[in-house]
Amino acid sequence: MGSNFVHLTSRDATPGARYARHLNAAGAALPSETVLGTVIEHLRLEARIGGYEAAEAAKERSERVYALAAQLIGAQPEDIALTESATVAWHRAIDAMPLQAGDRILAAASSYVSSALHLFELRRSRGIEVEVLPCAADGTVDLDALAAALRKPAALVTVAHVPTSSALIEPVAAIAALTEAAGVPLLLDATQSLGQLPLDVAGIDLIVGTGRKFLRGPRGTGLLYVSPRMRERLHPPHPDVRGAVWQSGDLVELAPGARRFETWESSHALRLGLGAALEETLTLGVDAIGRYATGLADRLRGALADLPGVRLTDPAAGGGAIVTFVRDDEKPADTVRRLRAAGVHLVAVPAHHGRWDLERRGLDAVVRASVHVYNDESDVDALVSALGRRTAPVRSSSRTDVIVVGAGVHGSSTAWHLAQRGARVIQLDRFPDGHTEGSSHGHIRMIRRAYPNPIWDDLVDRAYLAWAELSAASGTQLLTTTGGLYARPVGEAGLRGPDCVPVDAARAAELFPGLRLGDEFGAVYDPAAGVLDAAAAMRALRELSLEHGVDRRTGCRVDGWSADGEGVTVRTADGLLRADRLVIAAGPWTGALVPELADLLKVVRIVNIHIGATDPAAVSAPALGPFSVEVPGVGLLYGLPAFDGSAMKIGLDHGPADDPDRPQTPVTAAEAATLLGLARRFLPAANGDVVDSVACRYTMAPRNRFAVGALAGTPQVLVAAACSGHGFKFGPAIGAGLADLALGKQRPDLDFLSPEALGELG
Ligand SMILES: Cc1cc2nc3c(=O)[nH]c(=O)nc-3n(C[C@H](O)[C@H](O)[C@H](O)COP(=O)(O)OP(=O)(O)OC[C@H]3O[C@@H](n4cnc5c(N)ncnc54)[C@H](O)[C@@H]3O)c2cc1C
Repeated sequence: MGSNFVHLTSRDATPGARYARHLNAAGAALPSETVLGTVIEHLRLEARIGGYEAAEAAKERSERVYALAAQLIGAQPEDIALTESATVAWHRAIDAMPLQAGDRILAAASSYVSSALHLFELRRSRGIEVEVLPCAADGTVDLDALAAALRKPAALVTVAHVPTSSALIEPVAAIAALTEAAGVPLLLDATQSLGQLPLDVAGIDLIVGTGRKFLRGPRGTGLLYVSPRMRERLHPPHPDVRGAVWQSGDLVELAPGARRFETWESSHALRLGLGAALEETLTLGVDAIGRYATGLADRLRGALADLPGVRLTDPAAGGGAIVTFVRDDEKPADTVRRLRAAGVHLVAVPAHHGRWDLERRGLDAVVRASVHVYNDESDVDALVSALGRRTAPVRSSSRTDVIVVGAGVHGSSTAWHLAQRGARVIQLDRFPDGHTEGSSHGHIRMIRRAYPNPIWDDLVDRAYLAWAELSAASGTQLLTTTGGLYARPVGEAGLRGPDCVPVDAARAAELFPGLRLGDEFGAVYDPAAGVLDAAAAMRALRELSLEHGVDRRTGCRVDGWSADGEGVTVRTADGLLRADRLVIAAGPWTGALVPELADLLKVVRIVNIHIGATDPAAVSAPALGPFSVEVPGVGLLYGLPAFDGSAMKIGLDHGPADDPDRPQTPVTAAEAATLLGLARRFLPAANGDVVDSVACRYTMAPRNRFAVGALAGTPQVLVAAACSGHGFKFGPAIGAGLADLALGKQRPDLDFLSPEALGELG
């Protein structure tokens, strides 16, 4: 299987890869669509028929998880216990050992913090001795020192295959040969290696691992391998009805195999998700995954070695998918924050997560990047370019030209356009990139020329031009023209627009065989309508903004502002900021920051579902394009075709009032059923299950208009409350307009959307 195959099949099937450059597989990797679907499906089954009944129904699949885990490491299914995490597995194993005072445990410097903390506790409570094994020059366990240490009795040797704090790879086979010869059990912590490095149980007695890292399973999953010979030497300290049988009186019989280390209650959904992840790992092949990820990591190592002011911090025996480094002029935590704002997600590992390693190497912390099959060269290049950028941190009382509140499509477009024109911009968002609390998340959006009122035509034209400009600047095709159909009951006034033509139901069926309109409907065909790759657009705006020096700060909430003759003071959770101009593009939270608009803006909950199809071509362009149907007694149903790995989606253009300060809640079964019912009526080819769903928010303004422009009485404060369910397509154009207005250029073409004009409509 070529490495490109490994990557291509994985990135498309990884929902999270659309939203950010995620280089933190060694933290918690992005699960695949299949893993996600497996977990959700079982939770749905539990909700439908009950937890015990669902467990019964999934018994065979649950059993298979043991077989898959065993296959991964060359063991037998009965040698495997499933746990909630690697740390729980570690505790179960160590606490089952008959450790006495004075017993020696030899631990490698690569050991994880939680392992060390537990050993310290056993030293305090049971009087064991903990000896940290010396390292060889390349950072690995010094084998001669280990051999020497094993000349005296020892209860256990424990080693992390790959530590949390570097790319070091311990020589497991050589260590196992020494412990085997000495008859001392070896516990291998494979938390950072399962799924990226081949591993075999030969000579190893205990292996602990987690599901959420390179196995790409769900959080809350882990596994414990116990060799048959070790099983006889251990006694689970907390047997429960899963791990033992109460025979009679106080006679207890332990369960056969390693399941004696499990507890009865567990998340079957998560374990089945782990099974799906193991299946994918074994199908792709750990060797192929390792080759692909190591290739990417090598590319990163090479680039970082040439980057001034950046130091690689991995020992000589480093390799694999992990790369650690520091920037000489910045704390690792600040580097991570800055890279996160650039859309590159990774972590800093502080010394207290691996003191035996980092302290020994004189490091307070390191930045850790870790790649996987859903990453590609563009992710590595984006990291290197963001890392190489020098940005002077702007802190309170700093003054800048323009502060932009909001990193949705309007705030991000405005920030980019302002920075392109040389303005110094601080952009603030209360949530991290990729959040789903606002209105700009999700994979796709519709663009159309067909609009009810010609007053929009000029702005629609500007929107198309602005998308072409953004696509060119980012080198990404963001708009795919497919044509669109907009239907209403015959006789009702419909949409109109340049080149748009009215069609009857029969002609509509020729244009979009995937859409079934009854004769009671007429429609307008818009040849310029199309699909916007919203996720790619948000990524492009973020990266272009940074390339132009925007100081983006995510996770920074604005609590208020005040204007004076000199400019604007903005109060944030991190302190005060000053600027000449303030642009508020806060989406559903606009009313909170602009009280004079609060009564005009209504936030509503909107849900979309993505539906599978036995014949995806029948719900993809050209058989289906963006559409809407004004359904009497129901409302405006709209939808988009299957596109770029996403199944076709539908939604209704209205919903219940929603409080943006309450976290988004998932789409309910009832909400999905309503939409599915409409799909069965109008989209016969969308005959599959709901494969994904999105909850989102519209900020509705009177007559579906927007508020774009300066606030009455405070010209230095501008607003973009541009949603009403149709604002995404205008993002880049409105961003350009607000940049003009903020820098003093008149834009009379936007007067129809001024906050005052909206007030008159209210
Ligand atoms: C399900 C759905 C489907 C849609 N389909 C289409 C479509 O097909 N075509 C189309 O043109 N439009 C569509 N829209 C509308 C479009 O997506 C929105 O109009 C657009 O995304 C609004 O962007 P925004 O930047 O104004 O707001 P948002 O994306 O909500 O961004 C506002 C940002 O401000 C931040 N913020 C808020 N308050 C603060 C604060 N106090 N401090 C710091 N940060 C703050 C928030 O965290 C948020 O990130 C759809 C919308 C939804 C919900």
